Amino acid sequence: MERAVVIIVDMLTDFVTGALRADRSNKIIQPLRKLVEAARKNGVPVIFSNDAHYPGDFEVVHKWGEHAIKGTPGAEVIPELQPQEGDFIVEKRTYSGFYETGLEPLLRSLYDGEGAKTVILGGLHTNICVRHTSADAFFRGYKIVIPEDGVEAFTKEAHEAGLKYLQEIYNAEITHVDEIIEKFEK
Ligand code: ZN
Repeated sequence: MERAVVIIVDMLTDFVTGALRADRSNKIIQPLRKLVEAARKNGVPVIFSNDAHYPGDFEVVHKWGEHAIKGTPGAEVIPELQPQEGDFIVEKRTYSGFYETGLEPLLRSLYDGEGAKTVILGGLHTNICVRHTSADAFFRGYKIVIPEDGVEAFTKEAHEAGLKYLQEIYNAEITHVDEIIEKFEK
């Protein structure tokens, strides 16, 4: 995997145990923990792409209600995945981690300015923020890798449909956390 980064999407208190809780998110916590630990150990940058809403944001008012309001406990990364020194946190205000955020210049600055080439996406939700972030990554020419044991959604159907779409439309490589870690270590 050439010049890879790991992007962890919305593993925030409100999405795991709070306002927009998805019970299925519990099973991806340990795999994601393994993934970020292996990434750090192998010099692969770790980026947290986090909702940080203002109360008047369109998707808050018109779709989901209050969640991940900037500065509240609901907008914090869950304790099991706490960002560490050297990780990056990029706040977003709607589904895509690229939309009006600093993610794109960050990706270009990595690897001594050569830029990232491969984005490994984990987190929530397979069919919403992971999908929209993948769309923007695809538009910009990044290779997309998705560990299917590292993304989830509100329902099994939504998760599976999300994976299928990522693979068919963005040519995402659907794989597993352990296989990604093996490639880091090669
Ligand atoms: Zn949101």
